[in-house]
Amino acid sequence: MDTRILTTDGLQALVDALQTRGFHVLGPAVRDGAIGFGPVREVADLPAGWGDEQEAGHYRLRRRDDPLLFAYAAGAQSAKPLFFPAQEVLWRARHDANGVHPTPPDPEAGADGPVAVLGVRSCDLAAVGIQDEVLLGRRYGDAAYALRREGTFVVAVTCSHPAATCFCGSMGTGPRPGAGTAPAAPYDLAMTEVLDEHGHRFVVEVATERGGHVLDEAVRAGAAVPAAGPEDLAAADDVAARAAQAMGRQLDTSGLKELLYASAESPVWDEVATRCLACANCTQVCPTCFCTDVRDVTDLTGALVERDRVWDSCFGAEYSYIHGGSVRASTRARYRQWLTHKLASWEDQFGMSGCVGCGRCITWCPAAIDLTAEVAALRHDGGGRRDGP
Ligand code: SF4
Ligand code: SF4
Repeated sequence: MDTRILTTDGLQALVDALQTRGFHVLGPAVRDGAIGFGPVREVADLPAGWGDEQEAGHYRLRRRDDPLLFAYAAGAQSAKPLFFPAQEVLWRARHDANGVHPTPPDPEAGADGPVAVLGVRSCDLAAVGIQDEVLLGRRYGDAAYALRREGTFVVAVTCSHPAATCFCGSMGTGPRPGAGTAPAAPYDLAMTEVLDEHGHRFVVEVATERGGHVLDEAVRAGAAVPAAGPEDLAAADDVAARAAQAMGRQLDTSGLKELLYASAESPVWDEVATRCLACANCTQVCPTCFCTDVRDVTDLTGALVERDRVWDSCFGAEYSYIHGGSVRASTRARYRQWLTHKLASWEDQFGMSGCVGCGRCITWCPAAIDLTAEVAALRHDGGGRRDGP
């Protein structure tokens, strides 16, 4: 395997090389008190010296006393909104004295050119792989999503500081890109950030020819990008091994689908419904959720009309509304639907789990509801079927 070393200067040369190639480079950034994604023109745009603290219903940024750039766990949003925005225009038309003038669908898609995403975590890489399957892998692909995904350059990163809510180890999606058992989206380069007696550096695995060419361009621009030595490879392995050990939560996945299907009438759903606010936070932060609504809106004059696609959630009463009422009228039914889809019927639908173990739904739940604890409760309940086989 071609593995090289980048210093922070070398990382800047990589960013420059991507920009020279016309990529709009995005990466982790501190935004609104959390780690999100933002434009990266310089390494200084990355969250140097920031860490985080996560628990059920709890997220805080905290200052670190080192210069690490990627020493935090999954941020408030994954890479999902970069390719599948929370709101997008499907169709737009203007009305004037000369008639109605439709505009092409989604004029914003791809407007910034191809995207290079820096610092995609292993769990989120698996989530992009799931979205690719859902939105592109079936009979009718999503054109706007395909346009955004086309030519994307991905620099993945090994997660070095998982949160107390993380369980990617249980789902086979992390903490190191390419080392999990679950399918994942492809990446061009994978970095592991190391800080030890040999200095602060990135051990970079070259995964595609294009990734190697971009590093070569960084070298031609004057950056030193030497081959990784045994001590570098060992240090990177150590970062990944320590992260795997530090995983805050675990999910026993044995017989999970069968457990969920057998638990349709479990009293666990009644109990969780007493706490769940049906606020939909869990679905809005989840990197794999893909449900949407389509809304028609006009401006106040009626001259402009738009058809928008917006993220929706199975936690909304309207989501399952059909003539005569909502199919899932209770919070009990909606939470059961969400968890059963994630961990059981998703597998029947798409041949994979709908959960990558990023822990966001636990961190961002205002009621501190923990998917791993609910599954443990279902196991304790022994499936809970009350009405026949
Ligand atoms: S589980 Fe938590 S985040 Fe999800 S809808 Fe219920 S209260 Fe909101
Ligand atoms: S269900 Fe929760 S832990 Fe699983 S992928 Fe979605 S947000 Fe992450």
